Amino acid sequence: MKQLQEKILADGKVLSDQVLKVDSFLNHQIDPVLMQAIGEEFASRFSNEGITKVLTLESSGIAPAMMTGLSMGVTAVFARKRKSLTLVDSLYTANVHSFTKNETNEISVSKDFIGPNDVVLVMDDFLANGQAALGLLDIVEQAGAALAGIGIVIEKGFQDGGKLLRNRGIRVESLARISSLENGTVKFLEEVAS
Ligand code: 5GP
Repeated sequence: MKQLQEKILADGKVLSDQVLKVDSFLNHQIDPVLMQAIGEEFASRFSNEGITKVLTLESSGIAPAMMTGLSMGVTAVFARKRKSLTLVDSLYTANVHSFTKNETNEISVSKDFIGPNDVVLVMDDFLANGQAALGLLDIVEQAGAALAGIGIVIEKGFQDGGKLLRNRGIRVESLARISSLENGTVKFLEEVAS
């Protein structure tokens, strides 16, 4: 997605060969115009899948997931990283090891919000090693719901997550695929067309 690639080049900050900071438009300060375009792009790519629900992980997945839900006309659910005391008995839970924080969180989703009749689009802001996506897939499976695919805003193609998920036959759509962050420079798998 050209608009997103251009935003990454203009405002993204390469923190290391592994980590890209995009907190000026995606996961701290949020650019709503870009998020709307992202939502429309996912809605168009997954338009024939009969999706009934978008599922993401707090907090960085919420903005793109909500805009995608808006474009598709379906609700968005985010998995919580902390258990709500009022919900304990009625939760699906899974463990997710965080790439950026190097800690494992138990994530949870209320059984009220996903069920066997749902067709779910799993979404996240980044795809690195795939741990967050695998945790969300675990929850979709526990719910007995169908998986339409995975929508990722920024995939780091030099890490294993994309391969891991696609090798399982899962449809993964990423709006920007980064091939390298070496030497402080962002390179995309598909370069921005001029
Ligand atoms: P994974 O679970 O695929 O290893 O990592 C994805 C999760 O880690 C995402 O939810 C995202 O929040 C975080 N993450 C991974 N790589 C990056 C990165 O380069 N920059 C930022 N800001 N977050 C990342």
